[in-house]
Order: sequence, then structure tokens, then C-alpha cells
Amino acid sequence: MFFSQNQLKWLEQIFFERFGIKFNFELTQETIVLKKEGSDKKLIFTNLDSAFYQFGKTQLGCYEWNAETEGLVGAIDPVLKAPSTKPLSTPIFSPVEQDIYVNYDVLGLVYWCLNRLEEVGRTDLDNHQRFPAIHSHAYHYNYLERPIVDEWLNILGQIIQQVWLEVELKQHTFNMKVSHDVDSPSPYAFKSWGEVLRIMIGHLVKRHDMKAFIETFWIKFATKEQLHEYDPHNTFDWLMQQSNANNLTSAFYFICGGTTDKDAEYTLAHPVIQKLMQHIHQNGHEIGLHPSYATYQAPELIQQEADNLRYACEQAGIDQTTFGGRMHYLRWEHPTTLQAWENAGMSYDSTLSYADRPGFRCGTCFEYPAFNPMTQQSLNIRIRPLIAMECTIIDPIYLGLNVTPQAENKFLELKDKCRRVSGCFTTLWHNSYFKKNEMLKGMYQRIIES
Ligand SMILES: [Zn+2]
Repeated sequence: MFFSQNQLKWLEQIFFERFGIKFNFELTQETIVLKKEGSDKKLIFTNLDSAFYQFGKTQLGCYEWNAETEGLVGAIDPVLKAPSTKPLSTPIFSPVEQDIYVNYDVLGLVYWCLNRLEEVGRTDLDNHQRFPAIHSHAYHYNYLERPIVDEWLNILGQIIQQVWLEVELKQHTFNMKVSHDVDSPSPYAFKSWGEVLRIMIGHLVKRHDMKAFIETFWIKFATKEQLHEYDPHNTFDWLMQQSNANNLTSAFYFICGGTTDKDAEYTLAHPVIQKLMQHIHQNGHEIGLHPSYATYQAPELIQQEADNLRYACEQAGIDQTTFGGRMHYLRWEHPTTLQAWENAGMSYDSTLSYADRPGFRCGTCFEYPAFNPMTQQSLNIRIRPLIAMECTIIDPIYLGLNVTPQAENKFLELKDKCRRVSGCFTTLWHNSYFKKNEMLKGMYQRIIES
């Protein structure tokens, strides 16, 4: 009814990655039928909801369904949220002979969430032209902090096992990904002496801070080939140590161009940056791309900056075969930016979280193969949803929990939800965020502890 063949193929891929089973998706007039090779049994999806295939502000309402009423187990809570244009027709799962009818459009939900259909063409954007959480369906119906796609696929996994008793579903293990956008490797090293002098005078006259006055001078003076150990933004070794201690790989995303005042002060060719990138690489951590502020609607600029990164790595003798990354300021226009990353030959993007609220913008914490809903093409690039950016939870302009136990709990709650669906907790901490705040460092250590 609403599916193209490419859509069905993409869904087959999603199911294969999740369950480890190759299903055939067949479209009939009003239903989608899932079949498994060598078996006559079927899962039949009825009640397909056309709102799941429409772009922009959605007509979907939101209902609730208790899995326990049908003898099933919710991964996070027995009650699942169910976006739908009409009240649910229950039971959702009804066995008929050897088949099971599914009376809620789980496939539509998966398609709609993962491909961000509600974001396409939106004009109700924030001051950085981003689609904000507060205008999303998930925020409105209070499920942004639930990995709704993973919860429903988990339920579907239980149903698959009822139909095909002999199958063994693919088992996933919880994991974590930490990444660091390198907006500013140093507050002084890349500024002119004139600018540094103004900062020093501020330390002295406004803040009466003699120590900061001297330190600023000394860091600027002594930073020639590499970052100074007392530089407040130089947390690179510390971040790598934390990752090593927890068997994680840190990904550092560098700004590789840009012309606005929101972009980096450094260039990739600077000896300090070359050294830093080499140092990260030699320690077994990852280098990635952080496209500059004005690139999110400009595929040719993203291509240019990706090329800049590859060239800089080559010059620095860094042998990394694939590159991923994240947009600066999480600026994203769907699917323009996604297609630009694809065209630039990037292997994954990890932008998709909202700046104003943490949680599951894509409804999932699993990485997944991207699909362009406008062109109906499957893409090579993978989407790695971001679940929690530090400033989203901590900063007053967003959720504003500050450096408090409440903020720490928010991170841990989200991490726990990822764990309960055996997914991936992806979190972003800027190298420049910690300054010398030991409380913040302790919080970070506890959050990424396995
Ligand atoms: Zn950034």
C-alpha cells in the first residue's frame, strides 16, 4: 500500500541485523506478510497506518499498550507507547492457525522513526535552525527517553519465537561509545597575542586572578609544537586513559574548515593539531570529522571538509581507512545532511540527538543502515544515534541539571535503558567541557564505567 520495493528491502536488512534471520517481506493489498525461507508460517501485519509514511508534522496520536495483557514482556516497562492515528485494535497479536496477525503497524513505526519522516521540511526550528526536541512527537507524548523502536522489536522477537519455535534470535550485548567534538583544543594557543592579551587583562582587572593571568601568558608562550599540559582544554590524554580503563575507544571529531565565528580557531595544518592527531592515532583511538557550522545544507562543503580531513591524516602519516563523525552544533536537515555524508564517503554519522533534550531522537540506540526517504534509496552510511550530549543535560539553556547527582542520574537512566534493550549507549563529551572541574571529571568516570 505505502511501501516501495526499496523500503521493503531496507526493512529486511533492519530485521536481519536485529534478529539474525532473513525474512521475505511481501506486500499484499492491505497487509505486509513476513515469511522465512523453508517455512509456510507467516507473520501478517494488518492495520497499516498511512501516517507513518507521510513527511513533516504528523497526524499521529499516541496510545498505550500493556504487553503483559498478551503474555509478553516489555524490555523497559510493561506499558509500551504506540503512536497511531486511531485507537489500537487489541489484542495486537492474534494467532490464526499456524500464523500470527499483528494488528499494530510496527513496521510503519520503525520506518517512520528511523528515517525521521516528521523532520522533513519542518520550519519550526530553533535559533540554530535545528529541529528541536520540544516540537517532536516523542517529546509531546512523553516517550523521548524510551527507545520505542527497540522496545517494539523486542516484543516482535518474542512473537517470532512463538511462530518459529526452532529459530535462535541473534543475541546482542550492551556496549558504549564515547566521542569528543574537538571544537577547541586550547582557549589560547590559536588566538593572536592581541586577543590573549585582552583575556589576560580580564583575568587581572575583572577577576583579580593573578594565577590565571600568569598561566594564560605561559600557556600561550609555551605552546609551540604541542598542547601544554596545563591547558584547560587539553584533556585528551585523560579522556584516552578513561577509555582505556573501560575498554572503550574514544572518537575525536575535528573541524576541518569553516568561516563563521562559531567554527574552530585551529586549522588541520597547524603543527599542534598534526601532533595531536598523531598522538590520538598512535594510542589506538579514532579520528573523525566535525563538519563546520555552515555546512549542514551544503553537500559540497561537507565533501570538501571530508577531503581536508583525509588529506591531513595522510600528511600526518595516520593510516585510518574509514571515517565517521558528527555535525558541529548538531545542525541537521533531513535528509539533506544525511545524503551529503553518504556522498562524501563517510562510514557513519553520530549527530542524531536533539540539542535541547537527551534521549532517543531516532527511537533506537542501535546503529543502523541509513535510507533516504525522499529518493527511496538505501544508503551505505550508517546512523549511530547519539543518546546524551553532556551540555544537553547539564547546561542551563537546555535541560539545565548542572553538575549534580540529578544530572548524573539522567545519564545513568538513559544508559540503563540502552542496556535493557542490549543496545549501545552513545555519549558525547567535548574535550573543552571539563576545564579543571574535578566534580565533572568524577561524574564522567562513573558514567562511562562499565
Ligand atoms: Zn562542535
